[in-house]
Amino acid sequence: MYKVMNYFLIWVLGSAASAVLAKQTFHGDKVFRAKLQTEGHVALIHKIKEAIKLDFWHPDTADRMVPHTEADFHVHSDQADSVQILLQQNSVPYEVLFHDLQEGIEAQLNNTKKSKRHSYTKYNTWEKIVEWTSKLTKKYPNLVQRIDIGKSVEGRPMYVLQVGNPDSATKAIFMDCGIHAREWISPAFCQWFVKELIKGKNNIRELVKSLTFYILPVFNIDGYVWTWTEDRMWRKNRSPSEDAKCVGTDLNRNFNISWCDIGSSDEPCSEIYCGAAAESEIETKNVASFIRSHVDSIKAYISFHSFSQMLLFPFSYTYELAPDHKELDEIAKGAVAELQGLYGTSYTYGPSASTIYPTAGSSDDWAYSLGIKYSFTFELRDEGKKGFLLPQSQIKATCQETTLAVAYIAKYVLDHST
Ligand SMILES: [Zn+2]
Repeated sequence: MYKVMNYFLIWVLGSAASAVLAKQTFHGDKVFRAKLQTEGHVALIHKIKEAIKLDFWHPDTADRMVPHTEADFHVHSDQADSVQILLQQNSVPYEVLFHDLQEGIEAQLNNTKKSKRHSYTKYNTWEKIVEWTSKLTKKYPNLVQRIDIGKSVEGRPMYVLQVGNPDSATKAIFMDCGIHAREWISPAFCQWFVKELIKGKNNIRELVKSLTFYILPVFNIDGYVWTWTEDRMWRKNRSPSEDAKCVGTDLNRNFNISWCDIGSSDEPCSEIYCGAAAESEIETKNVASFIRSHVDSIKAYISFHSFSQMLLFPFSYTYELAPDHKELDEIAKGAVAELQGLYGTSYTYGPSASTIYPTAGSSDDWAYSLGIKYSFTFELRDEGKKGFLLPQSQIKATCQETTLAVAYIAKYVLDHST
């Protein structure tokens, strides 16, 4: 009987058409956390996913679901109740992380200070970020340079901020934020960290005497703009696929390392679409070219994502341990301890493949393959309660604690790299 009921509900789900709106709203949409205990639970979610669109938050694709883990996914309002019934009928333990996603979207903008200017404790639009980069270069001409590394698909300039004293600093660290459009806390961190380098505590400001920081505050600019103007939940870039069926490539699957192998998809409509070829995307190409042309000085590569509270290092594309595993593991342990020391935020750390899930074509593995030994990926706050919709009231604490971890890595790199 249950089985008949299941199939009926899944059929009902599939037949409910979801309207495509100009600016998408998410009234009544729910985000579930399913606590998968058996293969049967995993199979059920797959069945639902075959019938309707599930927007996976964590893991980033249904294929990575395994028993004894949790799966967070967003369901359209039309289908949310049916999905909930299916979870109940099949005894899948679950939580509802968002009962109304639109409310969550509105609640994240909870910094009510009136100023319309750029703010380190607010999420800033792309226009504000551009203006901010321009102001910084004017205000700190000896410390901050703005480098245009190329245009995005839609023609927006990709600005890397070079922070440091080019005369005395011979070693460099490359950092990028916002590869995935909806992970707003990530660009917020890059902006914060630039501020810390310029006017933070002494031990942070000291770093720029001997290190050059190349900081790309928004990697996937078109996608980021899209999350502000059209669809808050957008992840990929905005390049149309060849058959124009779907838009967007996952830029963190588009790097030239074991490209389009494990944990990525060659299906243009997938959220983890690897693109038509390695570096097919102009944004990937611009970043990869910049790093290649500075590879002699770049000693560390650090990329910022959200969410999960993890500090990851190579490999992503294989479960094999990286040749520098022991050293990277020690650094990650130290960095996480620094981070945790401030507010007690707990982070896990380890090689990406076994700590989060395997992915091919990701930027950290690619940087590592280029000889940049100190290659790390942060998954910032939180552990999923707010997910991509981390309220602005948490920006400051998140950035403060992350700054400590990054400073720890930077100091290590300065002292140990050759
Ligand atoms: Zn991400």
